[in-house]
Amino acid sequence: MSHRKVDLRSDTVTLPKPEMMEAILQTSLGDDILGEDSTVRELELKAAKLLGMEDALLVISGTMANQIAIMTYVQRGQEVILGKDSHIYNLEGGAIAVVSQAQPRPIEVIDGYYNLDEIKKEINTGDLQRAKTGLICLENTYNLNKGQIISLENLEQIKEVAYQNDVPVYMDGARIFNAVVEVDMELSDISKYVDAIQFCLTKGLGCPLGSVLAGTSEFIKEARQNRQRLGGGMRQAGIIAAPGIYALDHMINRLKEDNRRAAKLSKSLDTIDGIEVNLDDVQTNIVSPNLSKEGWYSDKLIECLGLRGIKVKKIGEKQVRMIVHYQISDDDVDYVISAVGEVLGMGDRI
Ligand SMILES: *Cc1c(COP(=O)(O)O)cnc(C)c1O
Repeated sequence: MSHRKVDLRSDTVTLPKPEMMEAILQTSLGDDILGEDSTVRELELKAAKLLGMEDALLVISGTMANQIAIMTYVQRGQEVILGKDSHIYNLEGGAIAVVSQAQPRPIEVIDGYYNLDEIKKEINTGDLQRAKTGLICLENTYNLNKGQIISLENLEQIKEVAYQNDVPVYMDGARIFNAVVEVDMELSDISKYVDAIQFCLTKGLGCPLGSVLAGTSEFIKEARQNRQRLGGGMRQAGIIAAPGIYALDHMINRLKEDNRRAAKLSKSLDTIDGIEVNLDDVQTNIVSPNLSKEGWYSDKLIECLGLRGIKVKKIGEKQVRMIVHYQISDDDVDYVISAVGEVLGMGDRI
């Protein structure tokens, strides 16, 4: 059994840095429901500026941000167009139906590309029998298992179609900063194509809690009330906001390193006999190797790597996911590559 620990299941496993814990100790402690926590407001305004949006709202999780956005835009009985593999559609416990009483209208998104013809076909602006489209939800980086970046050209096209049909566009940008550092642009270059957006503080940015939802002042005002309805209003929330401010100041640019390590990991894994990685898929910090070796399944690989202190996530019978984050070093990457090689090379001796 190895004493080494390399946890690649998700970037949500990241622990707050000592500087974040220090920021928590130093934070203001006002009542945020009364609008009296200056650190929360500082984070919200800082995030809004970064996103090029009028205002922003701190919420407890990415799921809550997504659901508040849908709740704010969509009326009961309306439809939401979203990606078939999106988080909202797959991993939020059907909240779209429970919370907003809305109907999802999933579309295929191939390699992070939203097909315009399909969106046009699925939008309904007023037919007695069909449900009206209330919102288009995009996910960037797209796909739970791949982390692909939506191109600006695609975003512009989607916005245009949505605008023509008077349908708002929302972006679940849980890992948007992994995309921003990769394409070397400002976040506002991306967010200008959407009406509202959320990002997670808890993934690559390494905070213990929180997501930020941003949009127009009017949208955020309503979103704030919807947050309250869900029981998401918080009191001394400076303890969540303070690490968030640290993250926005110090944790964004370094995401390039995670993307670089993910690229190295994927290229090296792909050279191992019995493993295949679609290198075009690896655009940010997510690597999803396939086991091409006969007789090998994810469960077996996970068990063998587990004995070596390496944790990865199963996403298919013969596919696992590895997400690189700031607690994964170059040395860890080398260790994982050699462990996978060793394990697969052992054949029946396992
Ligand atoms: C993690 C994630 C969320 C949800 O965030 P939680 O804070 O875990 O609720 C939403 N969307 C995407 C794409 C995510 O990766």
